[in-house]
Amino acid sequence: MGRKHGRDVRLVHPAHTTMDCATCGARTKHALPLAMRTYACTSCGVVSPRDKNSARVMLVRAGWNPDGVEGVRPPGPQAQVAA
Ligand SMILES: [Zn+2]
Repeated sequence: MGRKHGRDVRLVHPAHTTMDCATCGARTKHALPLAMRTYACTSCGVVSPRDKNSARVMLVRAGWNPDGVEGVRPPGPQAQVAA
């Protein structure tokens, strides 16, 4: 279906998305209890709502890095002209 409609479809394994850190990629030792609504990374210390973290993990796995995650943007047209 995705190919038929010309879309870039990527399959993302949904496992561990609540356990992985969307910022540094570290995986927690244990799944968060459902009652715990906030994801706190034990590695880099980032804190975010668990649903938001999971969504970002899936996006990163699909190969898409949202701008600003690492503070680095891909070179724009200006850089190309300068070179
Ligand atoms: Zn982290």
